[in-house]
Amino acid sequence: MQFLTRLKLLITVLILSFALFRQETVGEDTSQLSTGFSLKYIVIDPGHGGRDPGCVSQSGVKEKDITLSVSRKLAEVLRQKNEYEVFLTRADDRFMSLRQRVAFANQESFPPNQSIFLSLHCNSFKDQRIHGMESFKFDLDATDELAAELVERENAQESVDKFDFMIINLRKRGNEKYTEQVARILQKLLVKQLGVKNRNLHASRNAGVRGAPFYVLAWTKMPSVLLELGFISNDAERKKMTEEKYQDRIASALAKGIKKFDQQLPE
Ligand SMILES: [Zn+2]
Repeated sequence: MQFLTRLKLLITVLILSFALFRQETVGEDTSQLSTGFSLKYIVIDPGHGGRDPGCVSQSGVKEKDITLSVSRKLAEVLRQKNEYEVFLTRADDRFMSLRQRVAFANQESFPPNQSIFLSLHCNSFKDQRIHGMESFKFDLDATDELAAELVERENAQESVDKFDFMIINLRKRGNEKYTEQVARILQKLLVKQLGVKNRNLHASRNAGVRGAPFYVLAWTKMPSVLLELGFISNDAERKKMTEEKYQDRIASALAKGIKKFDQQLPE
């Protein structure tokens, strides 16, 4: 891009940022409170699928199969309780681009102040001793180096534009606290109920939620969280994650966490 075009773009972004900031700070006391947040719709996003297997272990276990299985179980648990309307970005082993996932979540039928988006993934690392659970909310800059590496892999299909993210960052500020809350609750509850290592503790500055510029978190309008349920590169964790029973436990812990988040919302 030419220097002048870049400069123009930068100025536009600055003006827009200032306008949004003004609007948000001025409007905060009235619009923010009057719109509030009440949970009605849950969009579950099973990571990867079809020709995109995600991480694959040496023994051939694929991330896309675990994310789909856990997502379907979670949908089932939630639907049984009949409290929320539950939707999956994919319900079978099909390829879906990150753009398609975002478009699905941003449909008018899911108002951003009545919906949450949960993207489920599994992790992998060259050091096979690494295990545990991680959760992420959107942030322009990854909170740590490992998160940055992870983003590169999960965002592989889409290039990332810093200017876009600046605008998104401002736009997302309205539901930031709900995103933070749901991420915190899910991470804490899953770690406790599943007895897994909390990998957010040392990695994040605020010892709770890690931030990284994941594409699906950036572009979804509703509060959105990406969960890395465990490492398929770790023998013990991979074995657990392929077991139906353990997947049921993940699903019920997630459902509990969602309910807890809902109960903590102001009336
Ligand atoms: Zn993934």
